[in-house]
Parts: sequence; C-alpha cells; structure tokens
Amino acid sequence: MAKQNLDDHRMTLLRGLPKIDEIMLSLEKKEALAGTPKYVVKSICRSVVEELRQGILNTKKDAKGMRLPTAGEVVDKIMQTIDGLHQYRLRKVINATGVILHTNLGRAPLCADAVQRLVEIAGGYSNLEYDLAKGERGLRYDHVQKILCELSGAEDALVVNNNAAAVLLALNTLAERKQVIVSRGELVEIGGEFRIPDVMEKSGACLYEVGTTNRTRLKDYEKAIGPDTALILKVHTSNFRIIGFTEDADLASLVALGKNNGIPVMYDLGSGCFAELDSYGLEREPTVRDVLTTGVGVVTFSGDKLLGGPQAGVILGQKDILEKIKRNPLNRALRIDKLTLAALEATLMQYLQPEMAVKRLRVLRALTEEVADVTRRAKKLQSMVRKEHLAGLTISVKKGFSMAGGGSLPTQEIPTMLLSIVSAHMSSGSLEERLRRLDIPIIARIAEDEVLFDMRTIEEEEFPYIRDGLKKITSS
Ligand SMILES: *Cc1c(COP(=O)(O)O)cnc(C)c1O
Repeated sequence: MAKQNLDDHRMTLLRGLPKIDEIMLSLEKKEALAGTPKYVVKSICRSVVEELRQGILNTKKDAKGMRLPTAGEVVDKIMQTIDGLHQYRLRKVINATGVILHTNLGRAPLCADAVQRLVEIAGGYSNLEYDLAKGERGLRYDHVQKILCELSGAEDALVVNNNAAAVLLALNTLAERKQVIVSRGELVEIGGEFRIPDVMEKSGACLYEVGTTNRTRLKDYEKAIGPDTALILKVHTSNFRIIGFTEDADLASLVALGKNNGIPVMYDLGSGCFAELDSYGLEREPTVRDVLTTGVGVVTFSGDKLLGGPQAGVILGQKDILEKIKRNPLNRALRIDKLTLAALEATLMQYLQPEMAVKRLRVLRALTEEVADVTRRAKKLQSMVRKEHLAGLTISVKKGFSMAGGGSLPTQEIPTMLLSIVSAHMSSGSLEERLRRLDIPIIARIAEDEVLFDMRTIEEEEFPYIRDGLKKITSS
C-alpha cells in the first residue's frame, strides 16, 4: 500500500512504533532473559514490531479507535514469545480416537523394554558398529539380523529408516533402468505421499502395469515378461479393498512364474505381522513367516505398524538379493539410527514369547483385548470422572467400533466401548477443541453432537490426565 493512501492517524501510529534498539535496551535489563542469545531476542523483537506494523497497515480506514501497545506491553509480548520457545512442541497426547495405529499420533507406542533400551543406548557409547569379539569394525545391521531371521525364517535381513525407504532401496538395487511388473490393482497410495508409481520412478525403475484395477491374472504377468524385466512386484493394498468382481494372482504362483523365468519377486507387505491375529478373532493377516515360505525373493514392511515397534523399514529375503541391497550406496543415506535399532531389537525380542508380546506391545494389546475388559475400563473412568461432579457434564458408556489404522486390517471393525461426553455449557465442537488444547491434549472424535472417547486406545495410567483435563475445562 502506498504511503500517501494512508490517513494521518495511521501515519502517526506507524511513526509511534517502538524502535528495536530501545526495546533491546529495556529487555537487556530483564533477568529472565539472561543467557538467551542476543540474535534470538532481536529477531523476535523485529517480528513483534513487524506484526504491529502489519496490523496498522491492514486496518480499514476507520483506524481511529486503534492505539499502539505501550512499551511495557511490547516487552511483555516479546518475553512471552521467548518463553514459548522453551515449551516443547512435540508432546505426549492421549489417543481417544480408537484408531490404534494412528499415523498422525505417532503410530505404535513402544513397549517398556524398548523404552528402557532406548534410554540406555542413547545416553552413552555403544557397540553400534563395533565387533566386540574381534575388536574391530562391525556392522550396525548385525544386532537385529539374527533375531529377524529366526522369527521369520528369512535367509538374511536388513533394516532401514522406514518402509518407504526399504521399497525405494530394494527397487533401485534390483531394477534400476529395468522393468518392474505390477498389477494395476496394486498401484496404491498409502497416504503421506507414498504412491507406488512415484516411488518406482524415484528408484529409477520402469513401471510395467498389467491387468486391470479389479482383475489381474497370472497370465497378464506372464505375457509382460521380456528381456528388460528385472522384477515382479506385489504390493499389499493396505488401506483399501476392492470387493466384488475381483481376481489377483497369489504370491505363490507369482514366485513360481518368477522362478521359471529367472526373475525375483518382491512383496511390499506394508504392515508385516508376526502375531497370529486370527486366534484372537481378527481377520487372518498372513504372518511374515507365512509369506516367506512361498519362496518370495524379498519382502519389506514397517517397524511401527503391526510389529508394534519404532519407525523402521525391515527388508527380509534371500541372501544373494540382500547382499546386493546392502552394497547399494543409497543404503548409507537411508540407514537406521542407533536409537531405533535399540528399540527395534527390544521389540523383536518380545516375539520370542508370543503370548507375552500380545500383552506387552500396546498395538497388539489394543487389537486383541476382550471387549469385556474394555467395558470394565470404560466404567472405571466413568465413575472416576463422575466423582468430581463436574458442572454440566454428562458421561455415558456406549458401544462402538475401533479401527486398526495405519493401513492394517482395513475392513476389520473391532467392537469397543465409548465414553460419550456431553456438556450443558458448551457445544461438542468447543469441548473437543478444549480437550485438544490441554497441556496433555486428548484427541477425541465427535459423532451426533457427542464427544466420544474410544476406550480401546486409552490405558488406565492415562485416566488421571483425563479426569484433571475435564476438571480444568469445566471450571474455566
Ligand atoms: C505403510 C506402507 C508403506 C510405507 O511405510 P512407512 O513405514 O510408513 O514408510 C509402504 N507400503 C505399504 C504397502 C504400506 O502399507
């Protein structure tokens, strides 16, 4: 906006804006700021003053009533902003959504052993890349290689940053500038920007699509095989299902086809399950072990989906293929860090006692818990909150459904119990927002004008936070 268009009042306001040097002088006298670098204080001064300037410029012609904050107020605002820098942005939240593997809420919480190992390894030196027996350089992958092979039956194993990295690395190693055959029914987007065709392109491999969205037969793959074919890729469709008139080639027949033509088969499993979930009444998800018995060349999956561990990408398969992948220089860029490795090792160890794993890994516990136990927890929280006699709050227990999330078991509806919270003094939207703005935020959903807490993803240790949060909201 040109200056001449500004009225006199706004010109006066602009001229009256505090000078940075003057604010700095009064700030330097504040003991609370001792130790904060001058460049940080100065940069915050500038943005606070700039915000005031924009405020004046953007007011409509009737800026008559507008006044500038006093020097004291400006200084207070800057102090608050600096204070804000000391508040953690990444915070613990309570997942009341009932989505067990909630990608936006950090997917799998770690088990106690994993957390303990993380602390132990993070705070000091470790034999991350040191062979203690030989007294020489070792490999970081060795720490989880053996246990992964034992649990899955794979010949060899490698872990990287996440499954997206695992897919990229495997495709780049096995099929750069060559063709990869994929069914049109499996060219999926997983969410968070992971799309099979895009990852394929970045890996340098050429996508050769076969079949149709709903039906792809073994013959379609067979016809596509040519001198440039380097790989047959199968992708777990994770977060969606095509139902009705469908057909796809099963993994075992793809592996047989590959064998006959000397072409390896890769399977992006997505979730990668090690637990027999069907014995807990859930739909059958083949375990990683089942998948590998087909003789598939390489499989990849996430560490923080059904496995219930830290973010990681696990690559399992035949030794010759894994050797090639390990030697790819891209592997260095995608490598796993020591904290993840410590947590992953502890998570994998849980599976040496499968019954304990289902109890100790929160993802599996939430997936398999009897609805009677969820109900007991719901009633306990209900009476805990009711005891507080919070003004205008009605809390009732009702039936509902939880979801696995994270692209795992997409059609599975898991029966659950919900706490329905209704306030006589505020709308459900306003209550939901206030829950979200608590020091320990509670992330809930709204249905039919009620705020709902799904008890399947809430643990008893979290009850006091919920009680205190509701107390705070209803008393303010
Ligand atoms: C989740 C998923 C991915 C991405 O895994 P991240 O660990 O999130 O990188 C890739 N492929 C499939 C099939 C998935 O389900």
